[in-house]
Amino acid sequence: MNCYVCSSYHIKLYKTIKIYRLFKCKSCGVIFLDRENLSSDLSRFYDQKYFDDYLYDLNYEVKQVKDTLRYYIDLLSYHYFKPDKILDVGAGIGLMVKAFRDLGFDADGVEVSSYACKVALENFELNLFNGTLLDYKTENKYDMIVFYHSFEHLENPLKILDKVKNLLCDGGLLWLSLPNVMSLDRFLNKENWNGWSLPYHLFHYSPSSIERLLRLQNFKEIKIMKGFLNPFRILIKREKQNSQVLVEKVSKFSILKEFIRMPATLVFSNQNMNVFAIK
Ligand SMILES: [Zn+2]
Repeated sequence: MNCYVCSSYHIKLYKTIKIYRLFKCKSCGVIFLDRENLSSDLSRFYDQKYFDDYLYDLNYEVKQVKDTLRYYIDLLSYHYFKPDKILDVGAGIGLMVKAFRDLGFDADGVEVSSYACKVALENFELNLFNGTLLDYKTENKYDMIVFYHSFEHLENPLKILDKVKNLLCDGGLLWLSLPNVMSLDRFLNKENWNGWSLPYHLFHYSPSSIERLLRLQNFKEIKIMKGFLNPFRILIKREKQNSQVLVEKVSKFSILKEFIRMPATLVFSNQNMNVFAIK
């Protein structure tokens, strides 16, 4: 076996969690799930049951996602540029595409789950492309492609990034939001860390291994923001039980809420990292 990211043969068994074997590449540091543990049909994997945990108040969630996107758009405008044409890969039930469109952006979505595409159509009148990114054919060029907690679910990161480069215009921006396997949260929670999310998460990246992957693929101006602000936390199951509930109980006033939110998310969601890079 060799590494799916850097092709090195220096692979060792890293950890076994329940029935799942995780290997680590000694050259680039990426951790990946044994292919024996892989579902043969990833689209069937993401059925109604998978999404049901997230469906409880779509209007509230869209509002939440919009607030978050405003924050990130400001950040991107400061560090890079303000994108216009956006592709969301692993769009799920379309919350982010809907929020981008409500904010005036030209956004498309790709989603492998037919169930999620149906929900997006019924609730938001969104026509997501139902298939994998590799199957997605378009004349469009995007100036930003987003993977919001989807990149780590994908089988072949090198092919995916090739396709991303095909779809991005020159100087276009890639935004990955994904769990940080070297976070404090992971070490505190050990095998119960929700970032493992087995067998859904096929790869586990640290800031250094994701940076190495992007450099290998010739991405430039890489910025990695670890942690504390993860305003999509409501979409992450464990956080629903922890920080989000804490925030809601403590205050209904938004400024105070932000102050409380910061330490709460420091404790409960420093597992997250946002990675930005230019083609
Ligand atoms: Zn490697």
